[in-house]
Amino acid sequence: MSAIPSSTGVSASSSSTTSKNDVESLRRERILKSKLYFDVPHSKVPLIYSPSYDIAFLGFEKLHPFDSSKWGRICRFLVADGVLDKKHIVEPLEATKDDLLVVHPESYLNSLKSSLNVSIIIEVPPVALLPNCLVQQKVLSPFRMQVGGTILASKLAKERGWAINVGGGFHHCSAGNGGGFCAYADISLCIHFAFVRLNISRVMIIDLDAHQGNGHENDFSDDRRVYILDMYNPGIYPFDYEARRYIDQKVEVTSGTATNEYLTKLDQALEVAGRMFNPELVVYNAGTDILDGDPLGRLKVSPEGIISRDEKVFRFARDKNIPLVMLTSGGYMKSSARVIADSIINLSGKSLVDLGSPSENI
Ligand SMILES: [Zn+2]
Repeated sequence: MSAIPSSTGVSASSSSTTSKNDVESLRRERILKSKLYFDVPHSKVPLIYSPSYDIAFLGFEKLHPFDSSKWGRICRFLVADGVLDKKHIVEPLEATKDDLLVVHPESYLNSLKSSLNVSIIIEVPPVALLPNCLVQQKVLSPFRMQVGGTILASKLAKERGWAINVGGGFHHCSAGNGGGFCAYADISLCIHFAFVRLNISRVMIIDLDAHQGNGHENDFSDDRRVYILDMYNPGIYPFDYEARRYIDQKVEVTSGTATNEYLTKLDQALEVAGRMFNPELVVYNAGTDILDGDPLGRLKVSPEGIISRDEKVFRFARDKNIPLVMLTSGGYMKSSARVIADSIINLSGKSLVDLGSPSENI
């Protein structure tokens, strides 16, 4: 969205203001009508997951270089390690078309009715050959469920201080464009819901996935309510140079950056972010593709480095008493799920999250 040049005249600018107001009021109406912000009983912990997150059918998981069932594996590790009771997990609702229209134009949602388009967005060419009903049911529906989880996470974070969606973080998707395995703009949706339903006006996105978060950057390009800290490798996808201009604090970490250098840069970046902006909500995009060995991220951060990174971000929010939403985002090596589970266990051990007592009888 660019500013209207003054030469376009008064009438053009006033009609544009009216249509902008119409868009805003329709958006508000849709958000207020949504069922995604439901009340969660206190017996549950703000860790959000549904078995419907996982994508596994017709050998899809073998076609894709990604571990498309990492979300379920994270939860299974937490339960098997005795730190989480399965019945304490919060299951979200699937985002409906009306929910998605809060950010996406109808034309974009219609474009997903082409299996070819979806195959390009998720980078699995054979999906182009499948009937769209199957693509909707087996690929897009799990993503919509994860979107529902990201949106609900902001409500839970406000109530409990933190929330983790064991999925989501589709930071390459903007209102009108999908790409890089991201079909829906869950971060932008989450923030718009928070503006209206939580009555807040300052949100900080801390995007520590290895890739640049061009989706939310394009969506909030001219929105002063959102401060974006993005630490990313500039030598990999998506090379969105225009979106880089919308990052408030850009920290570039080149291929091969190792744990100590990464964490030092993060410490400095958080210190600057804390001075520059006073958010009412932090959305933390915690991609694990910064892990050493990740073929896409090309960074060399150790599993212990990921654990330390997550702890630093949680402490940043806790020290300032700001509700924090964490999304797992990219990082689909087989080892990623174990590292994420270990990190959540560390957060629990440091009392930065409370996963309840698995043996409690509620
Ligand atoms: Zn990534």
